[in-house]
Amino acid sequence: MHRGSGQTLLPLIHKKKQGEALSEQEIGFFIETVTEGTVPDYQIASLLMAIFLKNLTKKEIYFLTKAMLHSGQVFPSFNRHTIDKHSTGGIGDKSSLVLAPLAAACGITVPMIAGRGLGHTGGTIDKLEAIPGFRTALSSEEFIHQLQNYGMVLMGQTESIAPADKKLYALRDVTGTVDNIALITASILSKKLAEGAAGLVLDIKCGSAAFMQSPTAARQLAKSLRSTGEDFGKKVTCLITDMDQPTGEMIGNALEVLECIDILRGAGPQDLRELCLELGSEMVLLGKRAKTYKEARLKVETQLDNGQALQKFDEFVSLQGGPKNFAAQASSLLEVASQKTVLTAPKSGYLWLQEAHKLGEALTKLGGGRLKKEDNIDHSVGLCVHKRMADKVEKGEPLITFYHHENQKELIKKIKADLLQEVVQIKVGRRPQAPKLILQKMR
Ligand code: URA
Repeated sequence: MHRGSGQTLLPLIHKKKQGEALSEQEIGFFIETVTEGTVPDYQIASLLMAIFLKNLTKKEIYFLTKAMLHSGQVFPSFNRHTIDKHSTGGIGDKSSLVLAPLAAACGITVPMIAGRGLGHTGGTIDKLEAIPGFRTALSSEEFIHQLQNYGMVLMGQTESIAPADKKLYALRDVTGTVDNIALITASILSKKLAEGAAGLVLDIKCGSAAFMQSPTAARQLAKSLRSTGEDFGKKVTCLITDMDQPTGEMIGNALEVLECIDILRGAGPQDLRELCLELGSEMVLLGKRAKTYKEARLKVETQLDNGQALQKFDEFVSLQGGPKNFAAQASSLLEVASQKTVLTAPKSGYLWLQEAHKLGEALTKLGGGRLKKEDNIDHSVGLCVHKRMADKVEKGEPLITFYHHENQKELIKKIKADLLQEVVQIKVGRRPQAPKLILQKMR
């Protein structure tokens, strides 16, 4: 405990308050005290706010990432074909469930350590936990064994990976210091660099349901992540992709797993398929399983359409404790809430969504997401958004189907009214321009 430790962050707080750069030693000291719990939270929070307001130089971001990375276990590099993908998060953002087996089916080793949902954003680990028996908590030994023998792991963060980030993130979450590019860079990379990957493909979400709401901010984050990753000798490809609307149609844990299985069968919504093909091609290219983007794309399309990726998915589900041949039985094994209520178009026109993060908040209200890290979630509830932005809709046509429980009818009425007022718009006149799925690629 900090009491009596005699350690203080005050000199660092004063220095950063004046906008001065902190040295490697000072940043190392900061992270050591965070990891060991030897200074009070209010000092850590104060330094975080000073960093938030005065920012960090490129060198300081490197020192911070390095210190946070080495606050815990760092896996050795596996091989040059080891590539992970990370998304900065959004709603219906389920591509990891498709991408990990898809890239693995193309010869990429995938050491994916993923997170849980918080606020309006979903998390891969929550989606996987909708699968009966599936284990997301693997030991370090299991992680290494599965990677070496089967070429892919998709598991939750362990206590031993970047513990300083866990502590800092919890404090940032309650002190308004999450949305800072330097802090996000160090937070993401300290975890991702611990996995032993040779390179990373980063999906930087941009739009009303993302951390980064403008393309300029998303580009700044991509640049920071790429240059810091490169400082550690890692190859980083960034894609800036749309998060003004959900990716695919489903929002909600069990429903999203079902949608991913559709994609692995060569069906499913076009935007989700395209996002997976694009991210997958970049993983294959970065992991040197293809010489050109064109070759990589062909490889990824082939492995998706010939069922190899689906087979890899089934293999990994049963390896991690889930049912054998899961995909074929998924619709009966996954629990989906029995009641359906439909929100229909109030008039004819073109669908538009604003403040799309409120769709994620609607899921949380139904119990499918969390407000606090400790909250339990209901995997069975969710929403299906039937139309894409700028699609033509007729009055009375279904726009959103809610999957909920019998005792949630009043809640659904309120959610429907709120979404109609705040999120769902029907534009008349000229057709609006649909958001672009891939805004930019930075290789
Ligand atoms: N995701 C992370 O892991 N960390 C951040 O700071 C933001 C998003």
